[in-house]
Amino acid sequence: MSVRLADLTTLRVGGNAADYLVAETSDAVIDAVSAADAAGRDVLVLGGGSNLLVGDSDLAATVVHLRTRGIELETRDACSGAMVRVAAGEPWDDVVARAVRAGWAGIEALSGIPGSTGATPIQNVGAYGQEVSQSIASVRTWDRQQNRVRTLAAVDCEFGYRSSRLKQERFRGGPRYIVLEVTFQLRLGDLSTPIGYAEAAKLAKEAVAKNVTVRQLVIEKGLLKGKELDDVLNLRAMTELGVPGERSGEGKGKGK
Ligand SMILES: Cc1cc2nc3c(=O)[nH]c(=O)nc-3n(C[C@H](O)[C@H](O)[C@H](O)COP(=O)(O)OP(=O)(O)OC[C@H]3O[C@@H](n4cnc5c(N)ncnc54)[C@H](O)[C@@H]3O)c2cc1C
Repeated sequence: MSVRLADLTTLRVGGNAADYLVAETSDAVIDAVSAADAAGRDVLVLGGGSNLLVGDSDLAATVVHLRTRGIELETRDACSGAMVRVAAGEPWDDVVARAVRAGWAGIEALSGIPGSTGATPIQNVGAYGQEVSQSIASVRTWDRQQNRVRTLAAVDCEFGYRSSRLKQERFRGGPRYIVLEVTFQLRLGDLSTPIGYAEAAKLAKEAVAKNVTVRQLVIEKGLLKGKELDDVLNLRAMTELGVPGERSGEGKGKGK
């Protein structure tokens, strides 16, 4: 199946990919990636497409679009909190929303961040002093180098600022590890996790003052960020299409 990647990325760039498939189960992901590896084809794993910049020329790689779904509560007790296993293709904000509804704390400040759950450990997604690595117990992956499923404990993921082993280790020009599932360990309780950063403290104070939850406040701020991005993309599209716009000066008496 062929696809235009510009239709699947937030930045709306990307050429045609002749070899594209949607994987709805972890087995389908593994089959697609290992078949491409066996055939010596490059692989591009696509989650939500929100952090992907691909060229406008045709892409020779096999594009595997992760649409696996599932949020499973594995265990829940006062001592270790809630252990929640999430499929890589699950939209991240749906996971945060579910956690806030269920009273599982630790990821509420990461509300509104676009993309899939499987991509979050790769760059150790973070905002307002909260990082996803603080709530990850383990990551189940397909290891393309060893051709086998491997579960990496959080400590083995070597998380850093917007970085991890999953991002660093490469195989044939792509990621060595394909994230299949992420297991989160979340605290029980309606309140968010302890505030360890000035930015998080400011956020909590603002939420109290406005009488909203941290999630509501973060989403409100994120919508503004998203609007700014949309404005930039629309401006670029207008410029490319030669549509008269304020910035170009056309129609405002500022042109040459
Ligand atoms: C408006 C906006 C706001 C944002 N705000 C934040 C923020 O506050 N904090 C922050 O940290 N980030 C932020 N981001 C960045 C982005 O949301 C994250 O990087 C997100 O995790 C990307 O997820 P995705 O599924 O869209 O990844 P994609 O764009 O689909 O992929 C990104 C990369 O990860 C790889 N990949 C994706 N899924 C997998 C997988 N399962 N296994 C292996 N490799 C995979 C892809 O091949 C690609 O190289 C923002 C982005 C936008 C557009």
